Amino acid sequence: MSSTTTLHDIDLPARVKQEAARRRTFAIISHPDAGKSTLTEALALHAAAIVRAGAVHGKHGRQGVTSDWLEMERARGISITSSALQFTVGDVHINMLDTPGHADFSEDTYRVLAAVDCAVMLLDAAKGLEPQTLKLFEVCRARRIPVITFVNKWDRPGLEPLALLDEIHARLGLETVPVTWPVGVAGDFRGVVDRRTGGMVEYERTPGGVTLAREQDLSPEEAVARHGEDWVRAREEHELLALTAEEDRDAFLRGESTPVLFGAAVLNMGVGALLDLLVDTAPAPAPWPLIDGGARELDAPFSGFVFKVQAGMDTAHRDRLAFVRVCSGRFERGMPLVHAATGRPFVSKYAQSVFGRERHTVDEAYPGDIVGLVNAAALRVGDTLYDGPPVTFPPVPRFSPEHFRVARVADAGRSKQFRRGITQLDEEGVVQVCHSDARGSASPVLAAVGPMQFEVVSHRMASEFNAPIRLEALPYEIARRPVPEVVGDVTRAIGAEVLERTDGTLMAVFRDKWRLATIERDLPPGSLRPLFGEE
Ligand code: GDP
Repeated sequence: MSSTTTLHDIDLPARVKQEAARRRTFAIISHPDAGKSTLTEALALHAAAIVRAGAVHGKHGRQGVTSDWLEMERARGISITSSALQFTVGDVHINMLDTPGHADFSEDTYRVLAAVDCAVMLLDAAKGLEPQTLKLFEVCRARRIPVITFVNKWDRPGLEPLALLDEIHARLGLETVPVTWPVGVAGDFRGVVDRRTGGMVEYERTPGGVTLAREQDLSPEEAVARHGEDWVRAREEHELLALTAEEDRDAFLRGESTPVLFGAAVLNMGVGALLDLLVDTAPAPAPWPLIDGGARELDAPFSGFVFKVQAGMDTAHRDRLAFVRVCSGRFERGMPLVHAATGRPFVSKYAQSVFGRERHTVDEAYPGDIVGLVNAAALRVGDTLYDGPPVTFPPVPRFSPEHFRVARVADAGRSKQFRRGITQLDEEGVVQVCHSDARGSASPVLAAVGPMQFEVVSHRMASEFNAPIRLEALPYEIARRPVPEVVGDVTRAIGAEVLERTDGTLMAVFRDKWRLATIERDLPPGSLRPLFGEE
């Protein structure tokens, strides 16, 4: 307990549980261009509008929505690069973690999912499940995180809603539970059947440049009168599905089913329903699994783990920010903590919340919250911080790399700096570092989930370690973990090679999946195991 603990903290455990119960910590998983930034803003906007007007349904509140929207538009750069956006809906604190997408898709993206309690899978109505979404979904499945599906861009022509549900069921093995159902075909989106009321939420587009849909609740009678056949068909389809897919919150929480919503983030359609679902149905933080198989109770003393380390743009200042997910207890800025990896005390005086470039001091935080620790040079991804008796969480998993480069020092006189830099970046988890006898220790192979990771390495090696490097691409795109008996076979095969990661994991790499299939055919079954989420 910190020195700031006061008498009223006799009730601290109860308070921590209460605070945890009103947290929702989630990330959006999607393929680039599906509308993640747009939805992120729309959610925050909607929340702001609710705070202002009590509700955004109907005409009141509309003014607030518009001005908030414009305000947020101005701040667009900030909200998009947010590492953790926190906002409040009524009594509930929502922590929305950014999963870096686009070109900088990297191991970082996956790791963010190690720190959330729930994910929103955002699909483009015209494209359905896309590759990046599938990969991110696999991470959610491995962690058994519940997933809410939001089908976006319904204002444009897209796939049939039933076809989308079938695809989710067939490819992800998830039961789909439509919470809303679109009235009007994709491209002529009138609103949705609202499962909770049985009525319709009508979306009315407003004319003009930046448009926000007005939402209006209609009774079934009003919906028939205004939308005739479209309403009747939507309701019939929805009832049919509702019968076969009985809503089951437990199945959702177990990661076996996914509630599905239809909307258009850019027009603010369906965003309110998503927010409601996050508040009402998404899980609050639960006791966090420990390495020994037990779990850290929410009201135990403070504990948290680092899921992301971000080196500042200004490398001269060695500004390094470690993002910590609070797992138990109350975090108070200044409280003395222990860094589990070294057993040393950690000074938590410089705790911040980070919204893009803006930082604010954080004085206290509860399970589910994200705290940014400044000047945290000693902290690595996966590290635990705690108060009281020691706590050990399982390691944050590493993921199967798909890009490989040989790294060499550009100036032979700088070999020492080169080795030091590569070791440091390896420890930070910026990239996975491997060696092989054939290549020698001066030419490590860097393995990454996304190519952006190499750019970070190059930049930091030059600017921070004063050891510019040359990178040579290797023609591999798939990695497996071989059993020791087949290492010789794989090494001799064409289009493959065996490397050893610095943590001792063997990594067999292959030119492509066809090469892998051919080589695997000649090996005993089970000789090559997936690397994904291996630890
Ligand atoms: P991200 O790459 O997933 O962050 O996607 P963005 O939010 O940047 O959106 C990609 C593009 O899709 C942008 O041009 C958006 O304006 C557009 N977009 C996003 N949501 C919608 C939507 O609901 N309907 C339509 N028609 N376009 C959308």
